Amino acid sequence: MRMLLIGAPGSGKGTQSEQIAAHFGVTHISSGDLLRRHVRDGTATGKAVQKFVDRGDLVPDALVMDMLRKPVIAANETGGYVLDGFPRSVEQAQTAYETAHALGVSVQIAVHLDVPTEELVRRLTARGRGSEDTADVIAHRLEVFHEHTLPMLRYYQGREELVVIDGAQPPEQVTAALFAELKAWQHKAGEV
Ligand code: AMP
Repeated sequence: MRMLLIGAPGSGKGTQSEQIAAHFGVTHISSGDLLRRHVRDGTATGKAVQKFVDRGDLVPDALVMDMLRKPVIAANETGGYVLDGFPRSVEQAQTAYETAHALGVSVQIAVHLDVPTEELVRRLTARGRGSEDTADVIAHRLEVFHEHTLPMLRYYQGREELVVIDGAQPPEQVTAALFAELKAWQHKAGEV
């Protein structure tokens, strides 16, 4: 299975991606986690992206694409992937489609974990992940989501299957809803 989990910062996409990976035997690939690891390790990519991540801005597309190419191809060979945090804009989705299609690793199903903004702010403020989660940066990250990522949902609506899940429910209920949708999709697609 090759899927995208799309959601605003604080929507629980990291937690839910872990559940999906464990249950469906796919690899969880988080662009945010990979970027943070580069920053921590002080790599060339880390140095190039740090200011964007700290401000809550999107990192330039080419850097993210280069970083993800190998893990996505490797995951495709071992059961598939759940991509968490990528793509994040219509432009990234279009470029990713062209690259992935040529390699035979393109997305089969996109899921939007939908959470109201007030709940996102509450969760992000409680989480407090250093410089990424100050009040100003939280507000900016949510603005970036609305401006760049929400329009991308329309893109997937017109292509792959797009499923919307109520992400404001308790985490176990979100997981149950996700599993039910993914199993239904697998049956329909003849994947199991
Ligand atoms: P996340 O943990 O997914 O919220 O990502 C943390 C930060 O990493 C974001 O605020 C961006 O600065 C950067 N980032 C993650 N994924 C992407 C992406 N697909 N494109 C550009 N920047 C990204």
